[in-house]
Amino acid sequence: MPADLHIHTNLSDGMDSPEEIVKIAQAAGLTAIAITDHDTVAGSARAWAAGGKSGIEVVPGIEFTTELLGAEIHVLGYFIDAADAKLNAILRKIQKGRRDRIYKIVEKLKGLGVQIEADDVFEIAKNDSPGRPHVAKALIKAGIVSSFKEAFNRYIDFKGPAYVSHYKLSPYEAVKIIKEAGGVPVYAHPAVSARDNIIPDLMKEGLRGIEVLYPGYGPEQIKHYKKLALKYGLIVTGGTDFHGVNSGREVKLGDILVPDEAVAELKAEKDKT
Ligand code: AMP
Ligand code: ZN
Ligand code: FE
Ligand code: FE
Repeated sequence: MPADLHIHTNLSDGMDSPEEIVKIAQAAGLTAIAITDHDTVAGSARAWAAGGKSGIEVVPGIEFTTELLGAEIHVLGYFIDAADAKLNAILRKIQKGRRDRIYKIVEKLKGLGVQIEADDVFEIAKNDSPGRPHVAKALIKAGIVSSFKEAFNRYIDFKGPAYVSHYKLSPYEAVKIIKEAGGVPVYAHPAVSARDNIIPDLMKEGLRGIEVLYPGYGPEQIKHYKKLALKYGLIVTGGTDFHGVNSGREVKLGDILVPDEAVAELKAEKDKT
């Protein structure tokens, strides 16, 4: 009874609609999925509706992008209340930050002699959570680069010349926002940010889980994060971080199978709140 607890839809920077994701997940033999779009819960609600008909359990989720001391830290929230008014007010602010950021990225690109328009990016995103993958697609469409990899390497990587920061949010704030909206906060792909030392402080704010199973993690890394989970009493979660095929990532739904006890543990944790 495998689950995948990290999936993006086209309501952020994934390729597939929430309804398509439910179908792909079913074909991959998954029994539970979580939609964890960047800074939006819109896709979660739609997948939940589609999941009801298909028999797949859909866990409502979100993934917040935060920054701390020059590192990007992502925080996942599970069983978050998508209708929570305070959550939605914060998300509108963060989403406006994402739009403003696209204008700034486009300005930087123009300074580098690359002519694309913000509207080209918005036309590709067609949602409230535009991001760098949409910029990458616009660059490919304009014939400036030939792949996602090239777009990131040459221009929009974290250290790239056209990189612009997100709406300023600390991981502590993200954990708090998730808690206040009834969700269970989880540290996403900890090896990507390499800031294990912040876990105790995040736990003080309400962190309850850690993403141990993730594409590209070797046995040693998995062992390391399992040990940390055990040490701190954190729920072990995982997922593919699926963004669609041809999204610049090789991974497919079904490549990472998380035991569905993780879903039960997250649910039990939510019920405590
Ligand atoms: P943003 O939310 O705008 O900062 O964009 C972050 C997203 O860009 C990530 O979730 C990935 O989907 C994608 N991304 C980040 N780095 C790369 C890379 N080097 N190659 C391809 N996609 C990337
Ligand atoms: Zn993404
Ligand atoms: Fe992430
Ligand atoms: Fe993600």
